[in-house]
Amino acid sequence: MSANQTLVLLAPLSGLLVPLEAIPDPVFAGKLVGDGISIDPTSQTLCAPMAGKVLQASGHALSLVGEAGVEVLMHIGLDTVQLQGAGFRCLVQSGEQVAAGQPLIEFDADAIAQNARSLLTQMLVVNGEKVNAYAPESGLVECGQPVLRLTLAATEDAEQASPEEGTPQLFGAVVVPNHSGLHARPAATLAHAAKGFAARITLHKGEGEANAKSLVAIMALEVACGDVLEVRAVGADAEQALARLRQLIAEGCGEDSATAEPAPAAGKPEITVDTNDGELRGVCASPGLALGRVVQIAEPDLQFDEQGQGEAAERQNLRQGLGAAWEQLAAMRLAQAGGPQAEIFQAHQELLEDPDLLEQAEALIARGKSAAFAWHSACVASAERLAALHSALLAERAQDLRDVGRRVARCLLGMAEGPLQLPEQSILIAEQLSPSQTASLDTGKVLGLVTVGGGPTSHVAILARALNIPALCGLPADVLTLVNGTPVLLDGNAGLLRVAPSAAEVEGLQARQRADKQRQRQERDAALQPATTRDGCRIEVSANVASLEEVQQALSLGGEGVGLLRSEFLYLQRDAAPDEAEQRATYRAIAAALGPERNLVVRTLDVGGDKPLSYVPMAAEENPFLGMRGIRLCLQRPELLRTQLRAVLGAAGLSRLHLMLPMVASLEELREVRGMLEQEAAALGVSQLPQLGIMVEVPAAALLAEQFAAEVDFFSIGTNDLTQYCLAMDRGHPRLAAQADALHPGVLRLIELTVRGARAHGKWVGLCGGLASEPLAVPLLLGLGVDELSVSVPAIPAIKAAVRRQHMGDCRALAEEILTLGTSAQVRQRLLAASQSVIERSVEYV
Ligand code: PEP
Ligand code: MG
Repeated sequence: MSANQTLVLLAPLSGLLVPLEAIPDPVFAGKLVGDGISIDPTSQTLCAPMAGKVLQASGHALSLVGEAGVEVLMHIGLDTVQLQGAGFRCLVQSGEQVAAGQPLIEFDADAIAQNARSLLTQMLVVNGEKVNAYAPESGLVECGQPVLRLTLAATEDAEQASPEEGTPQLFGAVVVPNHSGLHARPAATLAHAAKGFAARITLHKGEGEANAKSLVAIMALEVACGDVLEVRAVGADAEQALARLRQLIAEGCGEDSATAEPAPAAGKPEITVDTNDGELRGVCASPGLALGRVVQIAEPDLQFDEQGQGEAAERQNLRQGLGAAWEQLAAMRLAQAGGPQAEIFQAHQELLEDPDLLEQAEALIARGKSAAFAWHSACVASAERLAALHSALLAERAQDLRDVGRRVARCLLGMAEGPLQLPEQSILIAEQLSPSQTASLDTGKVLGLVTVGGGPTSHVAILARALNIPALCGLPADVLTLVNGTPVLLDGNAGLLRVAPSAAEVEGLQARQRADKQRQRQERDAALQPATTRDGCRIEVSANVASLEEVQQALSLGGEGVGLLRSEFLYLQRDAAPDEAEQRATYRAIAAALGPERNLVVRTLDVGGDKPLSYVPMAAEENPFLGMRGIRLCLQRPELLRTQLRAVLGAAGLSRLHLMLPMVASLEELREVRGMLEQEAAALGVSQLPQLGIMVEVPAAALLAEQFAAEVDFFSIGTNDLTQYCLAMDRGHPRLAAQADALHPGVLRLIELTVRGARAHGKWVGLCGGLASEPLAVPLLLGLGVDELSVSVPAIPAIKAAVRRQHMGDCRALAEEILTLGTSAQVRQRLLAASQSVIERSVEYV
């Protein structure tokens, strides 16, 4: 490209041009989003200022990329993101090619003027490095008239030169499983992992690209659940980087997407205020009921100087402010270790190191600004860019940036940071609770949360669901005028806040709360009792665990043993395999906690393929779920398996020890491991071998159950994988989640075959897949002949209670009938009917 090439942008609206510096918004006025023009409009249709492709199109904002890669953001009005699209009609879609002058968004100027701060509309170049000079017109302009002349930068050389020239670029695709897409927390985990590699790593979604080391850039990519991301890496450690990041993304970047509750459907909150009967409506962010008293929460004002005391001093200030904020977050993270709040603090720590934010802040300091102004503005500008995109989800994530911007500014201003002091039974009401405010709540005192802003995917909502606190968002601003101490009734299920409820309403709510609590209490009270059916058949209910802490929790909730110890927890997220002594100590501690009367089923290392270990180099695989995973990997790395076998043998005698092999597909695999086990036991002088069993999760193992049963001591059915392989549906595929149902009649037939094979040789059968934790499935599994249910720890009391409601004779008849059905839907329907009649019968029985 030759130097001094120009690009002329047309006025997107008719109206009066206003200098950017004069608009009442520090972010736009400070050109933090980009340079360009602002128009006070007299027309109501935003038109394309150049030919180009639409990158993002939402109600109030739209970005286009045109000639020479110049990217232009148009933002109608100030603070119009709050309107959530009301009053705007978008005429084009992301990815659409548009001609110069083509209508893009129609808007109702009167409605917007009444509900937003201003109609001033900005047209800004967001990739300013492409432009050397801006020559705007002034005064009144007509839509379509030339309004801004850009002198473009000559970038050809820079674009061609690449530090990695000659180095191959590696790439691989992965599906994002997270229910809420790559929002701040998973994005932070991803950026953090990417920073551990020297390679240049980028993420690609369609046409979009982001630096994988920048949290802000990842969030701006708007990655939603089910999106396919391509990871590209160039540089010396590209191969490791690619493997690690693909694995991390496939696993949900640290979020348990399989179990995380999906956010309620996002959408524009339907807000109606009925002041006559004191009822305010919002959107359900977290279900549940609460009766408490209003506590209004407001953010303190921040006042800092814009101008700095010199570049060197302000750089030093910025370092100090970032350091102090980091320390605060580290302390809060430690205080909430293990809880969902800790992840928010961790994400905020990542933001403090975000290269894009630091670069923006340093550029402002170099232009004479103070550290507080620079960092705060950088965060606000990035937040604004996110909020301007069409995703409600990203508008929520902008809150994280604002929050971190304020935290550093508060540190630089020496403002005290402390937890909110709250009275008992508080229902917190706020315009918007910041992520850190939400995460530092004293959950012993807060019964409910209510916000004007936010949405079902906000931190408030995510945390409230994780902490089991009811929450509403999207309430009318009137709620902010409620006086502290006012009694309110929050119905998170119906999306209602009732102010000063009547005695009858309070009574109704309390009755519902009592019924829910009573059922849970009864289940917990009886949790230590055995799970025996009404006709006296005892079923063992044990736990699936991945740590000693979980074993202790399981025991306190009535777990009768460990039916699945996922030993991979010892191997993941480290640079070298745990040695024998470390593993032995862990297995011994778990076995000792269980004692000699309880089962401990240790599953050998189940990684590989989709879950690679950095210290076990493996070739990339086309189909990792069909590749080198589970026992196949261990047999390829016999030293890894032998070390584990010796460590497990070290726990012999402390509990009823069982060894279980994952992903077994052939008898040879079983025989090879048995040989190794016997050799290692002989070498260690251990005479009593653990019981040796296999997981039935490959259909071949179920089909050959009788042959396997002759050589194993037990089976445990892994319905998660068995369903995936039986139905040929990726277990983590978000769009197949509903169909990949373990109650599919095909899967049920494999369970039946497994039990039949085991019975032929007098062996016992457990079931440790997710199906065992579904109370609805209990009568069917008992009827099919499963002897042990190994379930997630919190599900133990409910599963034991479900067993106690059954009659084994009825269960067998039910299973026989269900095996004749043809679809998962029919199976579920039949189980629901059975559960209803069992509940009615147990009421009669009582
Ligand atoms: C299963 O596949 O059902 C199982 C319990 O194992 P995991 O979920 O660990 O693969
Ligand atoms: Mg499995």
